[in-house]
Amino acid sequence: MKTFANAREAALEMRPDVPVYCFRPAVLTEDTRRFADAFPGKTAYAVKTNGEPFVLEEIARAGVKAFDVASPAEFAAARAAAPEAELLYMHPVKAQSDIRLALETYGIRTLSLDHEDEVAKILRIVRGMDLDPADVSLFVRLQTKGSATYELSKKFGAAPAHAVELLQRLDGIGFKPALAFHVGSQIEDPEIYERALGSADWVRSRAGVELAALDIGGGFPASYGHDPRRKKPVMPSFEEIMERLRKDIVEWGFSDMPLIAEPGRVIVARSISLIVRVLLKKGKRIYINDGIWASLSDSWTGKITLPARFIPDPARKRRTGNAENIVPFKVCGATCDSVDILSRPFWLPETVDTGDWIEIGHIGAYSLALRSRFNGFYPDTVVEVETPFDAGEEPEGFAAIETMAD
Ligand SMILES: *Cc1c(COP(=O)(O)O)cnc(C)c1O
Repeated sequence: MKTFANAREAALEMRPDVPVYCFRPAVLTEDTRRFADAFPGKTAYAVKTNGEPFVLEEIARAGVKAFDVASPAEFAAARAAAPEAELLYMHPVKAQSDIRLALETYGIRTLSLDHEDEVAKILRIVRGMDLDPADVSLFVRLQTKGSATYELSKKFGAAPAHAVELLQRLDGIGFKPALAFHVGSQIEDPEIYERALGSADWVRSRAGVELAALDIGGGFPASYGHDPRRKKPVMPSFEEIMERLRKDIVEWGFSDMPLIAEPGRVIVARSISLIVRVLLKKGKRIYINDGIWASLSDSWTGKITLPARFIPDPARKRRTGNAENIVPFKVCGATCDSVDILSRPFWLPETVDTGDWIEIGHIGAYSLALRSRFNGFYPDTVVEVETPFDAGEEPEGFAAIETMAD
């Protein structure tokens, strides 16, 4: 991987017409350790957030020894990047053949579920392999309620009374029963973990079985930009969220059991930025060489405002407008699809024009992971960059990034 001091240097030297991901290993290490140090249990990185080998390897080097995986390709990627690491198969609804692969080939002994038919699927394979169920930890995924950019309880999770039954069934068979929840991604309400812990406590006391562990999932918010025309959301800092979480864990009586967290976004978001090129400017619209079918899908569906920095092309001698004037541009993506228009504008100097570059910051989560080959566009160029996106001058795109206090 080629290394540059910052994205501006990379853009001016490469003059790229394709999107370029700028990876910052030092930032990834810092954010990985920040999480692992603040969480009083095992940190299992959620591979779906960004499963690139260079990301997984860096996270493993930073000290993470467990990975949350959901498919055969994720088993393989995590195993290749960190051969010694533990794999936690935390997808509640799995194909029978994938369960077999996990148990037989990958030696996975930790799985999750939210229905009795999933217990039957797992038990069939455990019996077939002549495994002792006591060697397998099964996490009952508990439904949670609350507010996150992506609310996942509509899809997965057993209601509390159902979770009680499932735990008792697992205990009866001889599996190690455990409890898990995942509050969704990019939480917007810091109380959400407390409510989930309260619910987990209710389930535990009704079930009357000894829990092997509690897995509190992911959801921890990354810092993004904010649209100056909208009300600034009030969110506590990362440190405040984690302090509150540690206190709640003690108060709800979970501090004496093994704990697991599955952070994704909060660990990788800041470590990658993306250089895109303006292919055309048409009034208040710019057309760029990336879009919702490639790196910007998450910002589109999650209505996330990403911080942007302007990298003018020095070869352009004539510009119209005032460079001091920061205005919103509607951003159209690279494909011929008419829905490929971002849901949030980029705020840029009004002098931005065809051929210029824009560096989009904090885009390490759900960007490369969600790329499609739609219309033949597939960004796949990565360089290494030494300087954090937030270092130096503030990005032009947004007055400020919602910094979670460092
Ligand atoms: C996606 C996912 C995560 C990671 O979520 P983030 O919001 O990126 O932290 C963790 N656990 C499970 C079960 C998930 O599906």
